[in-house]
Amino acid sequence: MINEISLALTSIKSATDIIKGLVNLKTEAAVTEKVIDLQSIILDLHSHINLLNTEFSKVLSEKKSFEDELNNINDWSVEKQKYIMAEIDAKVFVFVHKDYLESKVETYWLCAHCFEGKRLKSIYQLKKDEGYQKIYYCPSCKNEIIIKDPNYSLADHIKTSGRRFSWVDKY
Ligand SMILES: [Zn+2]
Repeated sequence: MINEISLALTSIKSATDIIKGLVNLKTEAAVTEKVIDLQSIILDLHSHINLLNTEFSKVLSEKKSFEDELNNINDWSVEKQKYIMAEIDAKVFVFVHKDYLESKVETYWLCAHCFEGKRLKSIYQLKKDEGYQKIYYCPSCKNEIIIKDPNYSLADHIKTSGRRFSWVDKY
């Protein structure tokens, strides 16, 4: 781009010199010759300005994408402050809203992998309820977590599902 600016300025300087010199030319042939030179310089100038315009548009576009990226980083920094990592089961870590820790109200869990790696709030969804444990999955990275139910009683479950007591006695 700097090179194109320099070439454009050189062309303008050459055109100016020719125009100044036209007054002193004695013959029509000499004037015609200089006019042809002038046309060539103007064509070059046009070409340099077109290239400059293209490169300038590219620079503006890059500037916009840097600004967008910066805004995303700033927005994420603010958003990230609202969450904290929590161990919701033995060695099972997720991000939860800070309000959840204070109020203990049921909340959604965010995938730690997506939260830290992709700056993405991906909410765990229930995949399978097996009674004694529930399996949740992250819709974004497909990571799965297993949450055991500490209150689950196999004996109670078997009773309510109509199995024979003799089977329960074995356990
Ligand atoms: Zn994920």
